[in-house]
Amino acid sequence: MCGIVGIYNVPEASKITALGIHGLQHRGQEGAGIISYDKEFHSQNAYGLVDHIFSKDKIIENLPGNMAIGHVRYSTSGGTGAATIFYNLDFGGFALAHNGDFTDAEYWREKLSKEGAIFQTNTDTEIIPHLLARTKGTSPVNRLLKVLNKVNGAFSIVALLDNKLVIARDSNGFRPLVIGRYKEGYVVASESCSLDLIGATDIKDVEPGEVIVFNEWSRTKEIYHLDKKVKKHFCIFEYIYFSRPDSVIDNQLVYDVRKRIGEELARETYIDSDMVVPVPDSGMVAALGYANQSKIPFELGLTRNHYIGRTFIEPTQQIRNLGVKLKHSAMRLFKDKVITIIDDSIVRGTTAKKIINLIRTAGAKEIHMRISSPSITGPCWYGIDTPNRKELIAGTSSVKEIKEFIGADSLKYLSVEGLHRAVKGNGFCNACFTGDYPVDKRVDK
Ligand code: AMP
Repeated sequence: MCGIVGIYNVPEASKITALGIHGLQHRGQEGAGIISYDKEFHSQNAYGLVDHIFSKDKIIENLPGNMAIGHVRYSTSGGTGAATIFYNLDFGGFALAHNGDFTDAEYWREKLSKEGAIFQTNTDTEIIPHLLARTKGTSPVNRLLKVLNKVNGAFSIVALLDNKLVIARDSNGFRPLVIGRYKEGYVVASESCSLDLIGATDIKDVEPGEVIVFNEWSRTKEIYHLDKKVKKHFCIFEYIYFSRPDSVIDNQLVYDVRKRIGEELARETYIDSDMVVPVPDSGMVAALGYANQSKIPFELGLTRNHYIGRTFIEPTQQIRNLGVKLKHSAMRLFKDKVITIIDDSIVRGTTAKKIINLIRTAGAKEIHMRISSPSITGPCWYGIDTPNRKELIAGTSSVKEIKEFIGADSLKYLSVEGLHRAVKGNGFCNACFTGDYPVDKRVDK
């Protein structure tokens, strides 16, 4: 998963971009980058957290201009690599940041490589500049529009080209993208929590299939629509886990949705216990909802060491296990108690197993695990780093087998219907739970 920011017509745009991507740090912690524009392009990408890479004084010095894009990266497609990407094309510079996965990346990569394209990274994003270099049109923006009409899958993008900032969201609207006003300019980000941090106003969602072009010289804003029919499939997992609880998506505060999910989970899977305990921080809000609905006391029974990244972010299984061990510890609350423990999801089962072992060692009598999503049985093709089916514990094991693997006395998941009741509205992608993929993966050569 990644987070993106675009800033247009704001003095010291890179400083605001740094702030914006800092507010999206939860979407990716592997690396970050900013590219700014003031007659020429300036770029800085590095591995690590935003505040380590972009020190206050150096940003403006190195990245001048009143237009900029930024990216926090957690690689999903194609291993680790650059955050923002930059290419010199026939018309001038082209800078791009992308959130999502193209479902036809493999197809294009193979085809373009055969035609002589030399790829510098193994990210799926890089197909865009290569397609742009080969696509003819009346202007650079017109060529980019043609490219975006050619590719498939999930993309929320911000790009700088031809003295313009271009932002776009695919016609399924898989990944979030919001726009707001800031001073005389516009600010765009993956989530509203980032725009709140900047101090933006009039924040609203960019519509699926919408392409907005901000023109530096004429100070105009043009809106285009992609050719593909809009068929909204917003990723429901953004509400469950990925987005920050203080973000608003489609007029719904993620915190409220997550609490409703917890309430629904309590209605569906209630079991009497002494306390409801969240896995911090991922199970926090759903556990609050569960406790409210079940009238069982809510206790913060686990402490999380915040000075290490998300377990998932670590690239190898060996480090991942170590990460979980370093990450949580149990409060002295559990002796002879019956515990309901809540987390948002089980992927490989590593976290649940570790947490249950912690609570068991702390003396709990019974441990009942409740998960505020349905079981993840299939990988995500649209930008969330769920592993392939055989690495997903629910892809290969029954609930009973998972319960035994994690060492719980009982294990229950929220149903797909319950999830939709809690999230409200329609037009969601729930493929990782149902196998109902709205866009096929194109791998034909
Ligand atoms: P696992 O330990 O492999 O079962 O992963 C489950 C834990 O990872 C849960 O605590 C989730 O909150 C978290 N999680 C679920 N999906 C993701 C993801 N795509 N990226 C990072 N963390 C995740």
